[in-house]
Amino acid sequence: MSEVVSLQKHRREQLKKKGKQSTLCGSGFHSWELVKERQFDVKQGKLVTEYRCKRCGATRTDAH
Ligand SMILES: [Zn+2]
Repeated sequence: MSEVVSLQKHRREQLKKKGKQSTLCGSGFHSWELVKERQFDVKQGKLVTEYRCKRCGATRTDAH
């Protein structure tokens, strides 16, 4: 009896985890959206384009 309960709990927690990762983002397939195009990055000393993921809010910069 107690085994059944723990199995159900386990399944529920796995589902929760999956939803949090937003599947595609969790696999590294973000939905990139342009934030700023070709701004000068002082740290890198070159022009960079900034992107943000629509789903999870991760950011990425591309150097030119
Ligand atoms: Zn993402």
